[in-house]
Amino acid sequence: MRSWSIHLFAPFGIRLDVHVTFFLLLAFIAFVGWSNAGPLGMTWQVGILLLIFVCVVLHELGHSLAARRYGIPVDRILLLPIGGMAQFRQMPRDPWKELVITIAGPAVNFFLAAVLYLGLADPWGFLRPGFDLYSLEGLLQVVFAVNMIMGVFNLLPVFPMDGGRIFRALLAYRMDYLKATFIAATVAKVLAAAGVLLALFVLGNPLLAILFTFIFIGGEMEYQALRRSSPNKRTANWFVGDLTRRSFLTIPAHYNLREALNTLALHRPQDLVVMDHHGCVGVLTKEKLKDALQAGKADQPVTEHIPTKFPLLQANWPVYTVFELLDREEQTIFPVFENGVLIGVIDASHVDESLDWLHLRAKHFPPPGVPEHSRTSPPKLP
Ligand code: ZN
Repeated sequence: MRSWSIHLFAPFGIRLDVHVTFFLLLAFIAFVGWSNAGPLGMTWQVGILLLIFVCVVLHELGHSLAARRYGIPVDRILLLPIGGMAQFRQMPRDPWKELVITIAGPAVNFFLAAVLYLGLADPWGFLRPGFDLYSLEGLLQVVFAVNMIMGVFNLLPVFPMDGGRIFRALLAYRMDYLKATFIAATVAKVLAAAGVLLALFVLGNPLLAILFTFIFIGGEMEYQALRRSSPNKRTANWFVGDLTRRSFLTIPAHYNLREALNTLALHRPQDLVVMDHHGCVGVLTKEKLKDALQAGKADQPVTEHIPTKFPLLQANWPVYTVFELLDREEQTIFPVFENGVLIGVIDASHVDESLDWLHLRAKHFPPPGVPEHSRTSPPKLP
């Protein structure tokens, strides 16, 4: 997805990206403005849209700065036509921290609204007949309204929106995190479905219906991702070592990208494990290699194209820890170590399939002398 977004800048050191579809919205608003009031209408309405998105960015910065205060790294803020999204490395499974981080977003909107309320002669003027959009007062009234709506709308208890996260955090005080998420996501699906119907048949607002559809899907996706990364029946008793692929390609750290490309000559394209005499120094992803080659950087050393920090897995970790990693990392293979020695890689694209095969193998090769139904742990594979 990252290739479909454009990097803007980094306020407070937090990367701000805009998704290309945002420009469709910009073009649409420019067109509407032009049809309503010619060049002035176009400039003004595009200006208002950008101002709204400044508020969206401030809202997301509220979440991000609160998260950073708890030491949670923020990957980036992504702007989409439907709003903004602060992407964190991981969300703390600590209800109190999640509450603070979540409330920080709408709090920014209510703060901005309060400032405008105090500064404007007639903050509710946009509701009155004779409202003049094309004036500074009118513009600020719209920004006031937008922040009120943004603050209130985000607090609806529809997971994964802020209100839904608050609901989940409150539930998580009383029960298991996964169960709390399941309840929050289920409530959200009912409310979002009702929202779609309301938007279509009562309010006649297809854009709002689309927004609720995204929320519906978003809640379900987040619940599924969490379910996959939590211990469950399918992953119980299995370890990272069981899923580790022993065949993988390595290249020495002194290679340049052309030499790395040559390594792939007789293999299917794949990520490469980079080694020096101390051991594994990183993973060169095939996407990075391809991009760099296309940018004419074939003579550059591979070490300039691998991240300085990369996740390592230990063979004796439970399998579910892998899923959490896969959900947040872009690379597809992860080096696996056992007693400090590199023994293979976990291949993200085959984890589900490998797990199926592990189950098949365990069924057909139960440990000798132990009836299958009484077996509590899977056989250790060679
Ligand atoms: Zn928010």
